[in-house]
Amino acid sequence: MPTKKSLAPIKSATPPKAPAKRVVKGAGAASIPAVAAVKTAAKRQKARKPADKATIHEIFTRFQAANPEPKGELEYVNAFTLLVAVVLSAQATDVGVNKATRTLFAIADTPAEMVALGEDKIRDMVKTIGLFRNKAKNVLALSQILLERFGGEVPRSRELLETLPGVGRKTANVVLNTAFGEPTIAVDTHLFRVSNRIPLALGKTPLEVELGLEKVIPAEFKRHAHHWLILHGRYVCKARRPECERCIISDLCTSPEKRV
Ligand code: SF4
Repeated sequence: MPTKKSLAPIKSATPPKAPAKRVVKGAGAASIPAVAAVKTAAKRQKARKPADKATIHEIFTRFQAANPEPKGELEYVNAFTLLVAVVLSAQATDVGVNKATRTLFAIADTPAEMVALGEDKIRDMVKTIGLFRNKAKNVLALSQILLERFGGEVPRSRELLETLPGVGRKTANVVLNTAFGEPTIAVDTHLFRVSNRIPLALGKTPLEVELGLEKVIPAEFKRHAHHWLILHGRYVCKARRPECERCIISDLCTSPEKRV
């Protein structure tokens, strides 16, 4: 048992410790220095300027030289199956979607065949993909609408595509670009990050980045720009640890996250 004496404060030559850092209370509490760091980073980001015209031209010249015909990684056999694959790919990996759609598209690769398959069977065939219940409903509904309003064809118009269930601006842009060769830019999480990092176009929302990119990407590169940037973000300029040491545009990138 400790005596009263042993419980007395011990005097020491060691200087007193600095007071503990004050913590902001509440959901997702962050220390004051952490909040300050976020504010400083935000200010720094605001002060950044997109790359100039010549640099952007050089960036895409290099992407083109490295991969002249970039392709997306979703498997499809026509505009309809591409549309279905993109709808299924929200918050899922392309690899996971491909595994499910290989069997699905072998049975149903037109709106009429998809409608004939019915919701229960579609759901069963895509059940390995996240949010599959809702996605199966959307696939069936969009197939019905394509039959009823568009003669079974996928419309070549962003406005019309966006009227289909489960189809937003990004999905419409992927379909327009990949199925119809339109120079649209579908901003996904990779492209959003890469564009803000280099930076090509700065923006707080995918739409801001998309509109910014449309203005600065030279016409000759627009057709493939979205695939080059998505692949660059997926395999090189990764979210947590960009692999700058093997990045072909590292000398042109001014990202504070650059590691070379
Ligand atoms: S240098 Fe690094 S941060 Fe910049 S684009 Fe390349 S991988 Fe991304």
